[in-house]
Amino acid sequence: AAEPLAPTLESARRVLKKYYGYDTFRPMQEDIIQSILSGRDTVVLMPTGGGKSVCFQVPAVVSEGVCVVVSPLIALMKDQVEALKANGISAEYINSSVSQSEQNAICSDCANGYLKLLYVSPEKLLSQGFIQFLQRLRVSMFAIDEAHCISSWGHDFRPEYTQLRVLREQFPNTPIIALTATADRLTQRDIQQQLRLHEPQVFLSSFDRPNLNLIVRPGQDRVGGILDFIERHPGESGIVYCLSRKQCETLTQKLQAKGLKAGFYHAGMTPNQRAAVQEGFLKDDLQVIVATIAFGMGIDKSNVRWVMHYNLPKNIEGYYQEIGRGGRDGSPATAVLFYSFADVLQLREMLTKENPQLTQLNLTKLERMQQFAEAASCRRKILLNYFGETLTQDCGNCDICRNPPITFDGSLIAQKALSAVVRMRERASIGLLIDVLRGMRNQAVLSGGYDQIKTYGAGADLPYLDWYSYVHQMLNDGLLYIAYEEGYALKITELGREVLQGQRALALKKFQPAEKAEKPKRG
Ligand code: ADP
Ligand code: ZN
Repeated sequence: AAEPLAPTLESARRVLKKYYGYDTFRPMQEDIIQSILSGRDTVVLMPTGGGKSVCFQVPAVVSEGVCVVVSPLIALMKDQVEALKANGISAEYINSSVSQSEQNAICSDCANGYLKLLYVSPEKLLSQGFIQFLQRLRVSMFAIDEAHCISSWGHDFRPEYTQLRVLREQFPNTPIIALTATADRLTQRDIQQQLRLHEPQVFLSSFDRPNLNLIVRPGQDRVGGILDFIERHPGESGIVYCLSRKQCETLTQKLQAKGLKAGFYHAGMTPNQRAAVQEGFLKDDLQVIVATIAFGMGIDKSNVRWVMHYNLPKNIEGYYQEIGRGGRDGSPATAVLFYSFADVLQLREMLTKENPQLTQLNLTKLERMQQFAEAASCRRKILLNYFGETLTQDCGNCDICRNPPITFDGSLIAQKALSAVVRMRERASIGLLIDVLRGMRNQAVLSGGYDQIKTYGAGADLPYLDWYSYVHQMLNDGLLYIAYEEGYALKITELGREVLQGQRALALKKFQPAEKAEKPKRG
């Protein structure tokens, strides 16, 4: 048996060295462990990779009794327990994958005081008789991992988690530690309220990743943009996130056709196929992974130099998690998000079908994501503000900071576009409108007779991408809207009419090509 340790920070340090081989705690870990050892309820909000596990595992080892860890993912539970055992710490897990006889053996080990940590699924914890079983043991503390699952505001809501308040009712004197990598304010509030935490100490480690250069680009010619970026960053590994499996596969083919070592990854593949792709990426045999959001959980590759989003993510939590897979080593990395308003429309439709009960919530989150993509102020500020942090200065490492938008009087440009919209009888989509403005002679233009209207070719002096940006700004500013039930036709609003008639001026942000956004800002 191990020598009896008084639960002090000193003994915690010895355990860290002995079982984990680390000499020192990270700064916040030490404060967290102190809080837990003093018997207080504790909330830990720390990004993935921050070192949350040590925060409850080490106190569990130095305290008397068993620490009961509630964890929602069977696979993660198994990994954690195996890692603990490999380090020489006695731990087990119980969930639906463990046979009844094994469960009995584990429970008797527990009762005999052999275990320092017992991982359980919430279903098991709440199952008949389990709480009573725990009451006969000496439970040192409860650790609620992935605690954001308790919040219906969060992205992984688990209804069982809301019943975890029984822990506080049945174990009024046992400290509860809640841990999560999600930190928005509403989730924080839900965790504290629903677990009935008593004056908890809350530790919010910064979610800032200053080495990530945040860039948003217009969603026009995404494939060209991706190829161009990779070409300008030779040999650097990266991930492209797509919305659908199909997209992953087609984009991969296009990258491969350009001679790039690319592979795709999505939930429709067999576990073996997925493992092979993951392995190839870890070993740098594959430079690029094109993946759905299924990719990334538990990926530990520190030198991912860039992460691109082919589509707008559904919410900021997801976006943050995905870009967080870049630049884990602390060296500069780039996050590029391709954005067009059409993505918002597509996602709105998807979210509405996906989960009718949560539609309103999910649409609100999508709106926040849209605001981020359309922002004209420091993007990092917006991101951190979402996670409850405030940045007092602009970050200097996002596209807006590096290349602040220059505004000009865009009334004339807007009038050209608005007039064309009206003359095309509000039937044109964005692409067709721009083609008409630029005087293109393609099938859609000619068959609609649009080469006959007065504004045909009135905007031939501006490139396509400029027009694309300006039309989107006009949408954002409420001069136009898209009737998506009418084939995405552009319609003019009352405000738009005022601008068209010269009763109101419009400021536009000058469109700036993407390369400029990547160059560091001069002194
Ligand atoms: P999280 O659960 O927050 O995602 P982990 O607990 O898995 O993070 O820790 C991430 C990595 O950091 C692991 O490889 C872990 O061993 C390492 N780590 C944790 N604490 C320390 C420490 N004090 N010193 C060095 N490395 C640490
Ligand atoms: Zn910035």
